[in-house]
Amino acid sequence: MWMSTLARFALPALQRSTSAMVCQSLRACRTPGLLPSCLTSVQLRGQHTLGSASRPVARHSVRHVRALDEERLIEVEWEDGGHSLYPFTWLRDNCQCPLCTLQSAQARKLLMADLDIHAGVDIVEVTNDNKVSVVWPDQHSSVFDSEWLKKRCFSPAARQALQEELFLNERYYWDSTLRVPTANYQEVLHDDKAALAWLLALRRVGIVYLTGAPAEQGQVARLAERIGYLRLTFYGHTWQVQDKNMANNVAYTSGKLSQHTDYPALHFAPGVQFLHCINQAMEGGESEVVDGFHMAEQLQREDPEAFKTLTSLLVDFTDTGTDYCDFMLQSKKCIIDVDAEGRVARINYNNATRDSVLDLPLHQVQPFYRALKAFVDIMNRPENIVTYKMEPGDVVTFDNWRLLHGRRSYISRPDKPRHLEGAYLDWDEVMSRLRILRKLVCGDMEMRTRNEGL
Ligand SMILES: [Zn+2]
Repeated sequence: MWMSTLARFALPALQRSTSAMVCQSLRACRTPGLLPSCLTSVQLRGQHTLGSASRPVARHSVRHVRALDEERLIEVEWEDGGHSLYPFTWLRDNCQCPLCTLQSAQARKLLMADLDIHAGVDIVEVTNDNKVSVVWPDQHSSVFDSEWLKKRCFSPAARQALQEELFLNERYYWDSTLRVPTANYQEVLHDDKAALAWLLALRRVGIVYLTGAPAEQGQVARLAERIGYLRLTFYGHTWQVQDKNMANNVAYTSGKLSQHTDYPALHFAPGVQFLHCINQAMEGGESEVVDGFHMAEQLQREDPEAFKTLTSLLVDFTDTGTDYCDFMLQSKKCIIDVDAEGRVARINYNNATRDSVLDLPLHQVQPFYRALKAFVDIMNRPENIVTYKMEPGDVVTFDNWRLLHGRRSYISRPDKPRHLEGAYLDWDEVMSRLRILRKLVCGDMEMRTRNEGL
């Protein structure tokens, strides 16, 4: 079933990771709760215009090359009619020969000190096997694969498509109508295609629910090993969310937890969080999540002044105590981080660890509270909140840079206290696994498609 569903999309669709791909990959998880329709009511945000230069064509053949000496560019004309321009300096810098590149590491050996950034080109031609060959004035020669070149085309559309392929910044924004994508814990551990679908949805939607894990400790660590390694923090490699005496964190009580991101007291907060339910409460203990990026977008639209305040003022966070070892953390963060393009990139908000130290001039204090209140009011709107109650064996995996999560207060069974085990990972490791899985799954599919003569 996996293959038949995914094969229709094959390599190109997977590379582009379109909305259809995510829907298909989710459907293929074969889990009842996992419905592609969950995505129909949500909005697509981010840059998703894939230009013609990014269209996944099977092979790119070079028709003609020439050097534009004045502009110091090499122009490649493709068989499909398009053309690409490559600066001389960039080509020389990225020569793939064994003298310039350490093949075993795919890493550059050529030193900046030895790179002539004003070098011209002696000869440029298309080789018999359709590669681009360049001879430089010092008679060093470089040969570039056509696919390699095409992918690195400098046109805005090609750059955008490649960046999307590498980083998957396209996101689906959602509200309370979201049906949380669900997959099977065992399948994710043992099936590469299921693991890929899980990580794609985690990136795009920000939350994926896994069912069918054993209701005993150690499962979040197994899941982290599936990806790479987990993120150690002062709360340990993994941590036990239980009602504890003399709790060193508000999570370790039975009280209500308002919507928050974890660990803004760290300048580099954990990117991804896993929570595994081992025992659930007798009463209460429901989980609540909101899409922080969607909330930030609503704030920007409804109250631009508040958005500007929360994306520009640095707020102090603090966390002090003893757990894995003793700690005394201080950090300074904007509540909403935006990237160079102005897109919301991270939410940093935990009211429990927001410091009483507030490093702002007097006149900015009240505007800051007004802005924060406006943001929290949006988060508390019922139409934005997804509520679910975890059962033993469920694992929720979510984007801690994007989602805010909370919990309702609870009363435990006296003999079986509520118990969740949690762990953190970082996005670099998760994205690394996602790219490897995509390459594995796509490579496999491409081969089968070819063998079956499709
Ligand atoms: Zn070289």
